[in-house]
Amino acid sequence: MEYIESINPYNGKPLEKYRMFSDSDIKRVLEKAELAFESWKTESVEHRAGLLKKLAKTLMKNKKSYAQLMSKEMGKPINQGIAEVEKCAWACDFYAKNAVGFLSDDLIETEADESFISYDPLGCVLAVMPWNFPFWQVIRFAAPTLTAGNTVILKHASNVPGCALALQELFLMAGYPEGSFQFILADHQQLESIIENSIVQGVTLTGSEKAGRAIAAQAGKNLKKCVMELGGNNACIVWEDADLDKYLDTMVMARMQNTGQSCIAAKRFIVVEAIYDEFLMKFSKRIQTLKSGDPLDKHTDIGVMAREDLAKTLEQQVNDSLEKGAQVKIGNKRNGAYYEPTVLTAVVLGMPAFDEELFGPVAAVIKAKDRKEAVVMAANSKFGLGSMLFTQDIKSARKIIGDIPDGAFFINEMVKSDPRLPFGGTKASGFGRELSMEGILEFVNKKTVYIK
Ligand code: NDP
Repeated sequence: MEYIESINPYNGKPLEKYRMFSDSDIKRVLEKAELAFESWKTESVEHRAGLLKKLAKTLMKNKKSYAQLMSKEMGKPINQGIAEVEKCAWACDFYAKNAVGFLSDDLIETEADESFISYDPLGCVLAVMPWNFPFWQVIRFAAPTLTAGNTVILKHASNVPGCALALQELFLMAGYPEGSFQFILADHQQLESIIENSIVQGVTLTGSEKAGRAIAAQAGKNLKKCVMELGGNNACIVWEDADLDKYLDTMVMARMQNTGQSCIAAKRFIVVEAIYDEFLMKFSKRIQTLKSGDPLDKHTDIGVMAREDLAKTLEQQVNDSLEKGAQVKIGNKRNGAYYEPTVLTAVVLGMPAFDEELFGPVAAVIKAKDRKEAVVMAANSKFGLGSMLFTQDIKSARKIIGDIPDGAFFINEMVKSDPRLPFGGTKASGFGRELSMEGILEFVNKKTVYIK
């Protein structure tokens, strides 16, 4: 394919045509990344962290136009797009303040005169990114990875080429050197040869389990370091003493934010019998107050899904679940890429609504007979990104931390990413961590230095 065309999923209208990169274009990009690395790696961390402050300022200056771009390319409600760009600036500020500390030599006492760990950059890292948070997913990886002294090549999802181009311009505007952050428009086969190329020292992917298996296999074959941030099927456990009045909005947001297209969204609401009826009634009622509409309208809570085929896949998963005995409590109409916010009940193990990632505004509500069964059900997933629990009994909640085999466990809060905290999954949700000190140390050579 020579060109890709971005399409507004809200009205189906074409937005822009982009030429795919040829193999020789990609060769040039790789050589540029290699050249840029030679000087970028010699800059001090202070200098690189200083650029992050400019990056944050440039993001804030352009937040409205970036949010509009996301609304147009993948249907994100504009206010959520603005919040996404603000969060990107927060992550940049966080690393601007902390990178020097994270990357300083770590002295370790031995018999040597001096022994320490030096954190050296690896080189060029390929980032394969998804469309659901087109700015955040890229910035949360690129800001720390560049600050560690690496260069980055971005292969963004095919439906957000405008965002990819805007991101490259953003880094240039903020003063990053040519070749330190470049985007490419490449197909999967070209990616395979990029991963093979000796200039590329690592690869990170945020996306589906299927894409993760493909890219991790290619990275493995070439012995390249990789980080996999894949899908999730997060449980939201509701014990009988949950404060629904206080936390209902959080629970609704946990499922419906970004029109349900978030890896860390609450997908399975596992509710203890004693509070089940009350929860279902209040939760469904609250969801019905969400306003669906034009992603560019600032009053819109639910936009459209990023592509019509994704909405159709969701519809299929729901239909399969209904055939197996699930029931529709509210919603469940699809119109093009729009999927009405939906609540399913009578969901049990063996249905797609329990077993698979439902990547859209559909909440599966599952009844558990007691607290213990709820926790066992929550852990019963091939994914392991995160779980949340709502209860007033923090003492008992603490006791089950070890029973949650996920990368995150949030009590009385939705699972969310925060630059200060590590982010990542277990099992089919992938491996490696982003954000915090963990994230900036993923693509570095932790070099042992021993001086006698
Ligand atoms: P994908 O995982 O297919 O896409 C994510 C990125 O990976 C894109 O840049 C894509 O490129 C690339 N990619 C996919 N397959 C390969 C491959 N074999 N080799 C190289 N690169 C690859 O997501 P989809 O857009 O197809 O969405 C499908 C489902 O994935 C969703 O319904 C959802 O369940 C899950 N998903 C999860 C996300 C998360 O944050 N956990 C994010 C996005 C999707 P290209 O666009 O060119 O195909």
